[in-house]
Amino acid sequence: MSMNQASLECRHINLSYGATPVLRGINLKIEPGEFFALLGPSGSGKSTLLRLIAGFNQHQSGELLVDGQDISGVPPHRRNIGMVFQNYALWPHMTVWDNVAFGLVERRESRDAIRRKVGAVLELVGLQDYARRRPGQLSGGQQQRVALARTIVIEPRLLLLDEPLSNLDKQLRVQMRDELKNLQRKLGLTTIFVTHDQEEAMTTADRMAVLDAGVLQQVGTAAGLYDYPQNRFVAGFVGTANLLEGRVAELDGASLRFDVQGLGQLTLPAPAEPPAVGAAALAFRPHQVSIAAPGEPADAARVWLDGQVQSAEFLGEFSRYRVRVGDLALISDQPHRAGSALFAPGARVRLGLDPRQLRYLPL
Ligand code: ADP
Repeated sequence: MSMNQASLECRHINLSYGATPVLRGINLKIEPGEFFALLGPSGSGKSTLLRLIAGFNQHQSGELLVDGQDISGVPPHRRNIGMVFQNYALWPHMTVWDNVAFGLVERRESRDAIRRKVGAVLELVGLQDYARRRPGQLSGGQQQRVALARTIVIEPRLLLLDEPLSNLDKQLRVQMRDELKNLQRKLGLTTIFVTHDQEEAMTTADRMAVLDAGVLQQVGTAAGLYDYPQNRFVAGFVGTANLLEGRVAELDGASLRFDVQGLGQLTLPAPAEPPAVGAAALAFRPHQVSIAAPGEPADAARVWLDGQVQSAEFLGEFSRYRVRVGDLALISDQPHRAGSALFAPGARVRLGLDPRQLRYLPL
């Protein structure tokens, strides 16, 4: 089966329910063949945006372009966009074959074409031996594959998936993550999926858009968003972040003074592109924070803060410490070496920040 590869673009899209704005000025461009995630917490507007692309929701202003053509007024059944719903919405009284054939029958395709297409798509999702079963006789993962088969058999221009893995148990979710990715690669079909799970988005999507409160916060690859978050929300939502809030108080050539709320003054080497004087947050990842006993010789390239261990979690590959520093709690992840002892809660320690790995964000 060869699939269409359409592009999708949202231009200044606004949608409100009554007086409540739900999507605010969404600008987004998705390239042909991309596997793209809409990521955000519950209520951020992800499903509303997905349903808007499918045509079930109508925006009040802005443009929605598929391959450069505005489809804003086009009803759902004329868009040739396939959508897989969270609960799969399979017909329980029909066989797998009939579920998958349904869209083609509705389009009055010939019996030959239907036989050929349904056969091909069932083979593609590995369900050729299950054609005569009913959905109730299938596992959750198999039901999802039927839902996918039923959607791609009509050769849509775009494939939309609403929380595709949320109905599956943890183990199956990880397996289906790979299956979905492989299937999408094989088809090359432009695919947009909604998820609230950052790990799911990071492991499957080529790129993703992070939404919060109806506002698109940032678009990028998993590594791009993790390494270069543009604001505090993205820093905290994609991966785990330590955030120091405060003020860049002074810039003096090679060094910079940062006043941290709840901690005091830090003198740091100024980065190559120094931030402006004023309110800012400093973000850094737990694995970038080293931890040492007070008497231990310390790396002079790091900035050291005195603290006290609040909790220590042994997670196998690494240990996660929560350390009180001033009025703040910072997280430090340390790779584990066999036999090494953990710092115990209550222990006095020093945390070492790597100035090259600090990111200055708007407050
Ligand atoms: P998400 O998919 O990110 O969880 P939704 O797109 O479902 O978020 O919802 C975004 C916001 O819009 C929420 O605050 C939700 O309560 C509101 N909302 C969704 N559907 C409707 C509706 N039909 N009428 C009114 N408000 C709605």
